[in-house]
Amino acid sequence: SLRPRLTVDQFAEGILRGDRVILGQAITLIESTRAADQSAGAQLLERIISKTGHAIRIGITGVPGVGKSTFIEAFGKYVIDQQKKLAVLTIDPSSQITKGSILGDKTRMEELSKNPGAFIRPTASGNTLGGVAHKTREAMLLCEAAGYDVIIIETVGVGQSEVSVKNMVDFFLLLMLAGAGDELQGIKKGIMEMADGMVITKADGDNIKHATEAQAEYKHAFHLFSVAESGWTPQVLTSSAHTGQGIGDVWNMITKYKAHTTASGYFDKNRSHQNIAWFQEYFEQLLKDDLQKHTSLHDINRKLAKAVGNHELSSRQAALQYLEAYHEAIRNSREL
Ligand code: GDP
Repeated sequence: SLRPRLTVDQFAEGILRGDRVILGQAITLIESTRAADQSAGAQLLERIISKTGHAIRIGITGVPGVGKSTFIEAFGKYVIDQQKKLAVLTIDPSSQITKGSILGDKTRMEELSKNPGAFIRPTASGNTLGGVAHKTREAMLLCEAAGYDVIIIETVGVGQSEVSVKNMVDFFLLLMLAGAGDELQGIKKGIMEMADGMVITKADGDNIKHATEAQAEYKHAFHLFSVAESGWTPQVLTSSAHTGQGIGDVWNMITKYKAHTTASGYFDKNRSHQNIAWFQEYFEQLLKDDLQKHTSLHDINRKLAKAVGNHELSSRQAALQYLEAYHEAIRNSREL
């Protein structure tokens, strides 16, 4: 495009003074796959990194229809009423798998998106969930530098994205429907084990009784799990985005969690571990990208795969030969 782009300095200054338009453009920059943008994006992150980390990072997940966007509207408004600035980012795994979108199809969080205290950014696109997760995490850091106090990362309760979100947030919140049955909701024990809190949604009208029953059941289920490293026992609440019941309780739960884990040292320890894990994962991603760049390897890969498929070569031998070929490709590219 012929549109002159902001310099890294201009991006950084704009973000640090909380300019929403520049924040949005900066997220577009880090999402870009163009080499020049990626290099500028990396410089920008370097410039703002010391201004990140002060926000509470909340992951929210649940199956489509559980009421995520309605909940985030109500919860977000509550948070803003507490004089906090709120950013909502989404990871939508469906767009990678089906090229369609579960989260993006409808107009979501219409009220919240008009609120000057809120910044809402829909899903980044990308070829791999891993790549998208990195971008969402970096977008989160930009939002922190722009002065947002509460960051919500929303994802759909299907597939792999929960693990990515869990690994970038302080508090992981699972939304559940009453009476739909665990099976129907595709809830696996693994997802419950990741949760720091659970909210039974739509606890209004005729549904209140079911919601309260489900609350007792899930409370019991959590008590059967072994104590988490955080030393925190997940709470189970009910809420209604329509009546507002329980919305403030969710905020109180998260505040309590933060106080509890800050006092024990877990809060900081968890963030350190997360940073180290992202570094390792980022490096693996760079390695994979680098492999792809050496096009001479594509043929070798195909030949080795064929030999392995025909039982002419062991998988281990093929992998070792491929690594050798990769090293040689690196040496050759240095000599050029
Ligand atoms: P999402 O797919 O998880 O984002 O779910 P939505 O927020 O779009 O909500 C799905 C449906 O549930 C919509 O028709 C909402 O109106 C309804 N819903 C959401 N929250 C509540 C609630 O608190 N009470 C009731 N009764 N319905 C709700």
